[in-house]
Amino acid sequence: MIELADAMVYVNQLKSTLLGKTIETAEVMQSPHTFGWMNLPKAEFESKLLRRTIVGVHNAAASIVIELDTNDFVLLGEDVTIEWGKTIPEKHQLLLTFTDHTNLVVRVKMYGFLMIGTVEELVKSSPYVASNLLRPNPTSPEYDQEYFLKNVLETQPKASLKQAIATKQAIPGIGNGLLQDILFLAKCSPKRKVNTLTEIEKNAIFSALQETIQAVFEKKGRNTMTYLFGEAGSYQELMRNPQKLCPICHTPLVEEAYLGGKVIYCGNCQS
Ligand SMILES: [Zn+2]
Repeated sequence: MIELADAMVYVNQLKSTLLGKTIETAEVMQSPHTFGWMNLPKAEFESKLLRRTIVGVHNAAASIVIELDTNDFVLLGEDVTIEWGKTIPEKHQLLLTFTDHTNLVVRVKMYGFLMIGTVEELVKSSPYVASNLLRPNPTSPEYDQEYFLKNVLETQPKASLKQAIATKQAIPGIGNGLLQDILFLAKCSPKRKVNTLTEIEKNAIFSALQETIQAVFEKKGRNTMTYLFGEAGSYQELMRNPQKLCPICHTPLVEEAYLGGKVIYCGNCQS
C-alpha cells in the first residue's frame, strides 16, 4: 500500500527518469482488473496519453501525479506497483513506452486508482481522489501543529488514536503502515482516547508524524515495499521488527486485532 512517504520516494525517482520523455505507445488494462478503478474508458484514456510529454511529477498525499504537456494529469495510487525500464511483465494495467524505448509499467495488486484528466475532472472523479488533491499534505508548510490539532485531534475527542489518525483519510496519506511507529515515538497507545491526551502528548504525536515521514523518505522507503527500480527501501518499521520486542524496553510487543486491522504497540512504553 503506497502511503505518503512512499509516494514521496516514488516521486523523486520518477522525476529523475520521466521528465521530458514523450509517450510513444500507451496501453491501459491490458489485463483487466476488477479493482483497478479508472475514470475513463480504455480507448479515451489511452488517447489522452499518446504523444504527450511528461513535464512534472508530484504527490498529492499518497497519490502519485504525473503531469502531461496538456492540462491533464495521470493519478496513480493505493495498492499498485510502478516499475521502470524492466522487462515487460505478462500482465499489467498500464504500460507506457517512450520514444527513447524505455518503459513504465503499473500493476494493480489488490486495488488501485488509474485516473487521467484535468485537476477539476480528477476532483470530480472520486471523493478519495478529491481529498488527496484538495487537502494540505502533512509535509506542506500550512500543515503545522495548529492545523493538525484543529483538523484531526480536536474534531474527534471521543475517538481512539487509531480511529482519529488512520481511518477515513484523517491525515491524507497516513494509514496503518506508519501509524504504529508514529504512536510508538509519541509513547501513546493506539487505543488511547483523544480527550485524555495532555498538550505534551498531542505535540509529541505531531512531531512523531513529521519525523516518521521524513525518516522513511530519507531511507528511500520502507524495507517492506519495493519502489521504481524494484528495490526495497531501508526504513525498518520500528513496530515490525523480526524479534517482536520493543526496541526500547525489550519486552514483547502487543499485537492484536483492533478496528478492522491489527495494532502493534508496547504495553510498557505506550500509554
Ligand atoms: Zn517498550
